[in-house]
Amino acid sequence: MSEYTARLQDAARFMREHDDFLIISHVSPDGDTTGSALAVGLMLEQLGKRCTLVNEGETPAKFGFMPGFERIVNLREQPLGRTFSCVIAVDAADSKRIGEAASLLAPDARVVNIDHHPTNDRFGQVNVIRTDAAATAEIIYELAAAGQFPVDESIATCIYTGLLTDTGGFRYSNTTPRVMEIAARLLAYGVKPGEIAERCLESITLEHVHLLQRALGALKLHYRNRVAALKVSHADLTETNASPEDLSGLVNYGRNIEGVEVGVLLTENAPGVVKVSLRSRSLVDVAEIAKSLGGGGHARAAGCTLQGGLEQAEELVLAKLGEALAGVGLRD
Ligand code: AMP
Ligand code: MN
Ligand code: MN
Repeated sequence: MSEYTARLQDAARFMREHDDFLIISHVSPDGDTTGSALAVGLMLEQLGKRCTLVNEGETPAKFGFMPGFERIVNLREQPLGRTFSCVIAVDAADSKRIGEAASLLAPDARVVNIDHHPTNDRFGQVNVIRTDAAATAEIIYELAAAGQFPVDESIATCIYTGLLTDTGGFRYSNTTPRVMEIAARLLAYGVKPGEIAERCLESITLEHVHLLQRALGALKLHYRNRVAALKVSHADLTETNASPEDLSGLVNYGRNIEGVEVGVLLTENAPGVVKVSLRSRSLVDVAEIAKSLGGGGHARAAGCTLQGGLEQAEELVLAKLGEALAGVGLRD
């Protein structure tokens, strides 16, 4: 039995042997962490277990179609006033990614860390990590098989959403035969692919469009057009009445320009706090860059948060990108 299969069995046993669970999705939740958390919650419910789903903040309303969505507690609005001994974290690359939800862990808490990020620091007592999985949801599908937890349309919908969103609609290079096989099986449970794609990938908010107008106006190309940088200031966010989810997909406008190797989006989430999103086309490992700046992610998609102003963050990230381009022979 491989190490990974053994850890899947450990996680399944953990779910069967205990009763009262906390399930944590990562900060700035996306479709993969939300779908994975909801699928695990539904599996536990089928086993007759109690469980609480939590996120440090708000989960985007566009994921509201997933069964059980309304059960996700926004910790900022609803403090729970208690701690938990049995914890499952999904799609969190490191313990910082669970954010304030860390305050809900009892001193004796056992944490099962289920994730697919190569930068995962194995913060759990049980670490179910498969870095070649396209999404944490793919691991959740394997967890269901390992634990013989029945999959129904609701669970299938949540897992499918994780697969769909982390592969950019089955387009990114992480779209393996295994992903397509699992997706096909999930469709057989009654998943509605058109509706899910419409909600997760096609629909954009008016706030997103307003941000896009501003960000494209300030687009800058660097290093002989190998890097395309977009910047969103705190004023841009407040003046367009945008929320963090309205930024989703913005970074791809830079990355997608022909000839560009890395797209970067710098967002001043609050004065002095800059979120950096990095996307590369084929050569630069942006997870390494993000990790060196205190963040993490995947080779083609990664991020970090920097303290300081926008210009300062831009300078730092561009310097790192210059080094990385030189490393892969693209800084001519
Ligand atoms: P984003 O640019 O926020 O969409 O993130 C791209 C990828 O990097 C996702 O897989 C995230 O989970 C990961 N990521 C983003 N920010 C961080 C961070 N601060 N620490 C670790 N991983 C991150
Ligand atoms: Mn994620
Ligand atoms: Mn993921």
